[in-house]
Amino acid sequence: MNCGCADVVTPGLLDLLDARARMIAAAKPVSGQQRLALGEAAGRVLAEDAVARLDLPGVDNSAMDGYALRLADLERVAAAGEGLSVALRVPAGAGVLRLPEGDCARIFTGAPVPLGAEAVVPQERTRVDPRGHVHVLGEVAAGANIRRRGEEAGTGDRVLAAGTRLTPAAIALLASHGIAEVLVRPRLTVALISTGDELIEPGSPRVPGQVYNSNVAMLRALLVQQQCRVLDLGIVDDTAPALHEAFIVARDSADLVICTGGVSVGEEDHVRPVLERLGGIDFHGVAMKPGKPFAFGWLGTSAERGTPLIGLPGNPVASLVGWQYLALPFVHGRQGRTPAPLQHFPVKAGFSRRGSRGRRELLRVVLDWTGGTPVASLAGGQGSHMLGAASQAHGYLMIDADTHVEEGNAHGFCPVAQFLD
Ligand code: AMP
Ligand code: MG
Repeated sequence: MNCGCADVVTPGLLDLLDARARMIAAAKPVSGQQRLALGEAAGRVLAEDAVARLDLPGVDNSAMDGYALRLADLERVAAAGEGLSVALRVPAGAGVLRLPEGDCARIFTGAPVPLGAEAVVPQERTRVDPRGHVHVLGEVAAGANIRRRGEEAGTGDRVLAAGTRLTPAAIALLASHGIAEVLVRPRLTVALISTGDELIEPGSPRVPGQVYNSNVAMLRALLVQQQCRVLDLGIVDDTAPALHEAFIVARDSADLVICTGGVSVGEEDHVRPVLERLGGIDFHGVAMKPGKPFAFGWLGTSAERGTPLIGLPGNPVASLVGWQYLALPFVHGRQGRTPAPLQHFPVKAGFSRRGSRGRRELLRVVLDWTGGTPVASLAGGQGSHMLGAASQAHGYLMIDADTHVEEGNAHGFCPVAQFLD
């Protein structure tokens, strides 16, 4: 399969996982914080620990619709072949009542367990006789189906750590603690620069040789997903002065600059020399396929004080992979998020394929689960310019450098879902 790029070995490339670790180490959170209503905070990053202000649950309550009872009462009536009479009806929202000796209480999910009751028996495990007395089928353990006060969290417990992204479940958790406002990290402003004289924006007619700018559409969508503000500085001419000017604007208006294209080593590639002139380079070139021409550096006097810049490759799939493996953890670090380890697990290849010389290859694959355990097959053409496979893939099969894929052998599989969070 032709990927559109020669399989040449470039010396001095950084290992993908080392590059990722370097991006994470370099990511310093932007300063500032913002207080938001919980309803506005989905997707944002907590700036401080969220602490329980009350016990959760606030009272011992029933986990089922059923009957609350004392075990000794149950034992006594059962021995006589009789049932328990129902003295109370306790719906959710009722106060805390006391269970009279020798009786049981009709109770509903979430209702406070009456004082004295030791267990709740689900209604499916009971029989009510014509006198209205309740008989229990099977054994009942002490504490069964009672959710204890404070069992989820006690007052003062940390329920979410600073650096957590507020997923819908995290928002619900805070709401369940009665928390209506949260302190979050500020949104990042990310400047996007597209380089390439061949590029035009979708919507305009194309003449042969022109290429629609898909990278900016993709990166905008990815950045919005990460709650970033996007400053699109458009398509910049493939000249050093034009890029120089765009980098200065980006440096002065963003928390992070991402450019695509022009980051290789041809004489039409101006990112590296201009970056060296306006700041510096941390590393350039990663032993991955696609995604080799990846650059990381800064615009300004030093890495600590400058505006970080990520140079993604022009080829769209290389750009996507560079974002997922390297740029995204950096964005998370800038947002003050706790970095997540890369998720991968072994999956068998359902195909054979020649390996890549000197670079770890990230094959875009789909998983077939019909046999019970997953088997990976290629999601389509593997060229770094071919977005079709990338748009269908469930993840990447990571093939070590200089390793051939043999059908039936397992390789590390990285689900793409981890990059959407
Ligand atoms: P470059 O990295 O500038 O050498 O570009 C490598 C390949 O990616 C070329 O085929 C470019 O036309 C293509 N390319 C560069 N930028 C973009 C973009 N923003 N959207 C789609 N394709 C691009
Ligand atoms: Mg170019």
